[in-house]
Amino acid sequence: MQFYGDYHIHTRRSDGRQSEEQAILAALERGLKEIALTDHGPLAAGIGVKNPQVYLELKERIEDMQPLYPDLTILVGVEANIRDLQGTLDVPPEVLDQMDIVIAGLHPYTLPTSMQDGMGIFVQNSLRHLSRAQREKAINANTKATIEAIYNNPQLDILSHPGLFFNVDMEEVARACVKQEVLFEINCGHEHPDVSDIIIAEREGVSFIVNSDAHFTETVGRLRYGSEIIDALEIEPERIANALDGGGHIRWAKKHRAFTF
Ligand SMILES: [Zn+2]
Ligand SMILES: [Zn+2]
Repeated sequence: MQFYGDYHIHTRRSDGRQSEEQAILAALERGLKEIALTDHGPLAAGIGVKNPQVYLELKERIEDMQPLYPDLTILVGVEANIRDLQGTLDVPPEVLDQMDIVIAGLHPYTLPTSMQDGMGIFVQNSLRHLSRAQREKAINANTKATIEAIYNNPQLDILSHPGLFFNVDMEEVARACVKQEVLFEINCGHEHPDVSDIIIAEREGVSFIVNSDAHFTETVGRLRYGSEIIDALEIEPERIANALDGGGHIRWAKKHRAFTF
């Protein structure tokens, strides 16, 4: 399968190793028609943007640059961190409202909103190898945080790498994505989720998006992991939001007006 765009790319404003210009040129070289620059939210230690204002500055800058690149639509968004069991994100709603695209996911070393949430999600996960009971507790906490994030953030477009770093109940998470029309990401940079979880999500009826999660120019638009799995499982193109052919975008575009394809 070929893809229209890549909607999960990091720049130097968070932990990427590329400027926005470099990411844009790489996307053009790969023949993409649309990209989204989606830097990490500010509260994941060591990898996030300095503050949410950074997104607004980048958005302005891209608006100025866009006319220079008529063959590529450049969107600006965020990859926010889920901070607690209520699904609170680390980018305020008033900033999310101004973004072209909003991604969220669980990430290690995120500053929780309270000690209790810190214990429930982030510490519990570091203990998960200890016993079956600890493991189940961690899965329940991760699943709850993820589902609440899906239900409580109407701006959310994409759930990034479901289950990466933090095991979840994939059926429950997939069902929430279907209900709230949140796209279930196949993340090619992390080669995640694995095939068995993609099969579960497919059965639940999710719409997928295939992204690179590129931090380097070399990986912008590198979507082979998703392409191979989709082909092998024979998932219909209309289920893939960024499929180049087959109308995957049509259902999605009703909700997400920012997307031009
Ligand atoms: Zn991520
Ligand atoms: Zn990412």
